Amino acid sequence: MGQKILVVEDNELNLKLFCDLLRAHGYEAEPVRDGREAVDRAHAFVPDLVVMDIQMPHVSGLELIEQMKADEDLKMTPIMAVTAYAAKGDEERIRDAGAEGYVSKPISVLRFVEAVQNLLTAALARAEEAAAAAESADQPVEAEAEAEAETETQEAPEDGAPSADSADATDPEDEDGQA
Ligand code: MN
Repeated sequence: MGQKILVVEDNELNLKLFCDLLRAHGYEAEPVRDGREAVDRAHAFVPDLVVMDIQMPHVSGLELIEQMKADEDLKMTPIMAVTAYAAKGDEERIRDAGAEGYVSKPISVLRFVEAVQNLLTAALARAEEAAAAAESADQPVEAEAEAEAETETQEAPEDGAPSADSADATDPEDEDGQA
């Protein structure tokens, strides 16, 4: 199976179109018809990308994008918004909410698939960058920790000597007492 894509779209025809299109390109598409289920379904499905309709009943795609971007488990998942409105400022609002990509309806099949591929590639690059940054950030900390550990073990015999003596002195008494 290919990469997993959660498709949140209230319109049945669009939902089928998006899912068929993604499956035809080797992706595993998971349809969500009701936006109110989107966050829970995202937690369960763990998608590599979310395709998010903006105009939906009950909850707007913008709200869902904000919710997902505020969610520790979902915030790294790229979101591609799909909207019928091409009004000025719409794209800015969608990007402000945290969506990484934006495609307007009616979609161009080619552009839709290209946008999905580009977002997945960009997300992979970000994840690799983050992993590399975490690795290089870890190294000095580990080195310091090892250095501290060495100093502690070197000092330990000096510190331990007097207490070992006193322990030896008391231990026989304890043992005698217990016996
Ligand atoms: Mn809709």
